[in-house]
Amino acid sequence: MCIFCKIIAGEIPCSKIYEDENSLAFLDIKPVNPGHTLVITKKHYQDIEEIPAEELAALITSVKRVGELIKSKLKVEAYNILENNGPSAGQIIPHLHFHVVPRYPDDGLSLWPSRNFEKEDFERIKNKLLS
Ligand code: AMP
Ligand code: ZN
Repeated sequence: MCIFCKIIAGEIPCSKIYEDENSLAFLDIKPVNPGHTLVITKKHYQDIEEIPAEELAALITSVKRVGELIKSKLKVEAYNILENNGPSAGQIIPHLHFHVVPRYPDDGLSLWPSRNFEKEDFERIKNKLLS
């Protein structure tokens, strides 16, 4: 059983902040910022590719609720929603989860360093994706 399934089963404690029939939200044990929350499915799915679309729709609705909750109760003005899909993308726990990360002005986080791409690179990638 994976660690998040153990949390759902009540075998490992968590700081629960939201729950409904299909999902559970709790504070991340190593928060990026105060209020950093994970929203998970009660059923074990490894990643976004495994979960059926209808269940993903229910999960993202829970993510939306959690975002609204964090915004109103913690009085933050912004937050990031992130889902790591696969180990190379930083997924450590192989149980689908969305991170909701409250953001504060000047909190020093910079999530997406950007690069310059040549025009041919865009063409090459676009053509691959369309093929
Ligand atoms: P990811 O890298 O997307 O797989 O993120 C996994 C997240 O789970 C990390 O941010 C961890 O800090 C968090 N985490 C791991 N174990 C626990 C736990 N027992 N309770 C709460 N959060 C956890
Ligand atoms: Zn699991």
